[in-house]
Amino acid sequence: MCDLLTILSLSPYCRLLFVDNEFSTIKLKMEDSSGRDHVVVVRLGAGYPYKAPDCCVDLPVAFSISWTPQTNIQDIYNQVLSTLESLKGFWDTLDEIDTKTWVLEPEKPTRSATMRRIAIGNNVSITIDLDPRHPNMLPECYFLGADHVVQPLKDKLNSNVHLWDPDVGLLQNLKDILEIDFPSKSDLKKSDFTMDCGICYAYRLDSAIPDQVCDDPHCAQPFHQACLYEWLNGLPSSRQSFNIIYGECPYCTKPITLKLLNKPF
Ligand SMILES: [Zn+2]
Ligand SMILES: [Zn+2]
Repeated sequence: MCDLLTILSLSPYCRLLFVDNEFSTIKLKMEDSSGRDHVVVVRLGAGYPYKAPDCCVDLPVAFSISWTPQTNIQDIYNQVLSTLESLKGFWDTLDEIDTKTWVLEPEKPTRSATMRRIAIGNNVSITIDLDPRHPNMLPECYFLGADHVVQPLKDKLNSNVHLWDPDVGLLQNLKDILEIDFPSKSDLKKSDFTMDCGICYAYRLDSAIPDQVCDDPHCAQPFHQACLYEWLNGLPSSRQSFNIIYGECPYCTKPITLKLLNKPF
């Protein structure tokens, strides 16, 4: 308890949010050096101080306290703080993406979320998955959209990958390598990129989004996998070969294919 008061009086970056009557659950709000708030919940179990307390923080990496019976709450605070600081680059990178681009998923990213799906244009987006320990390295990238739009982006990524500069932010690197500008938040609305499924007229179907897009450049209508699967299955003219179903787009009647990757339904 004395430790707790010491921290609260010493650090202007730590605030007590909650403590229960037994002083066994302590909830703190900690601010990192970039001004981001983090909620830390410390539970001192029955074995305390011989057993390490539980410490919950929303982090993209595993975290546990290194503990001896001499470890006090001040040490816990310091350990959490140094972990938060070690992730500064990761969060700075994602904060820049969240403020400057249209992030389609996750809808409300938590501090542990390493993935972002970013709108590039109408029905085209890139999904990146960042390594929290190496936020300046080229992340895993996946594109979503019609083939004729996605293929040139994949080609750019492959041919320009040597231009990746770890000293430049991720967003700038993506712009340079893909030779694109991300749609700005000031000119466009999120609904400009989140087009509803052409079959069920909804955006979300359970948790799925319309990620199958008609390849015809004039149509480019998106569909949910499950909706398109049902539609194509109901067509007498459609056929399946291995894991690909061939049929016609419900909108423009041009040929459309559906790859059954991992059956999401
Ligand atoms: Zn649908
Ligand atoms: Zn179509």
